[in-house]
Amino acid sequence: MKQCKAKSKRTGKRCKAYVVKGMEVCYYHGGKVGSTKARNARRKAALRHGFYTKENIAERKELAAFMRDAKAMMKEI
Ligand SMILES: [Zn+2]
Repeated sequence: MKQCKAKSKRTGKRCKAYVVKGMEVCYYHGGKVGSTKARNARRKAALRHGFYTKENIAERKELAAFMRDAKAMMKEI
């Protein structure tokens, strides 16, 4: 496994933590999902698979509302 390329701001030493798979830096230095790079990759993948399109979001919102109503109804019974 590769080691993190990031340098500590305080000590100036290299991080040396193991990198996150496919990244140049470790978990702490932005290798984790949630970093810009990973987020962009995820967004691209999401678009390719049809998630997060306008229609899809509307659909899911409707579904969520429906589920809420259904739950409310269950409580009333
Ligand atoms: Zn690091």
